[in-house]
Amino acid sequence: MSNIVAIVGRPNVGKSTLYNRLTETRKAIVDDMSGVTRDRHYGLAEWTNKNFTVIDTGGYVANSEDVFEAAIREQVLIAIEEATVIIFMVDVTTGITDLDDEIASVLRKSKKPVLVAVNKVDNYQLQSDATEFYSFGLGEIHCVSSMSGSGTGDLLDEVAKHL
Ligand code: GDP
Ligand code: MG
Repeated sequence: MSNIVAIVGRPNVGKSTLYNRLTETRKAIVDDMSGVTRDRHYGLAEWTNKNFTVIDTGGYVANSEDVFEAAIREQVLIAIEEATVIIFMVDVTTGITDLDDEIASVLRKSKKPVLVAVNKVDNYQLQSDATEFYSFGLGEIHCVSSMSGSGTGDLLDEVAKHL
């Protein structure tokens, strides 16, 4: 597991949808050694002849915002620790939320490459809404629709540059 790509972000932005798309038809790596890994799914993926492990973070069983925040922060810190590249996923239909800002501030301190994936850009018109995510100060943004797959190839090209 030398190349690891972690998908982080708050709930409902579309992390698992992207994960499923990337790991489709491939065998999931089952690992539930600890409570932390139970919140994470590991799968194998390949792009332009590069093999990598994708981590889908999430699956939090929590009701309160506080628990969410702590769990998400934990997942982001683990991703910074173990990932080669981090995909920070946000949702164009909601815009930036407080949780997004909190995750962004943790990621800004990371030395690992972070790619901002603005998800649910299902049509061309939504691309202009995505520009607000530049305010994270995490560099280029990558508009994708995990559902249709549009933009995911360009995102993976960027990911592959770091593998
Ligand atoms: P997660 O909580 O971040 O893992 O998010 P999920 O992958 O479970 O997706 C949350 C919701 O967003 C689901 O209803 C998905 O069908 C929806 N969703 C995911 N990707 C897209 C997308 O590209 N466009 C739209 N319109 N909906 C999406
Ligand atoms: Mg999920």
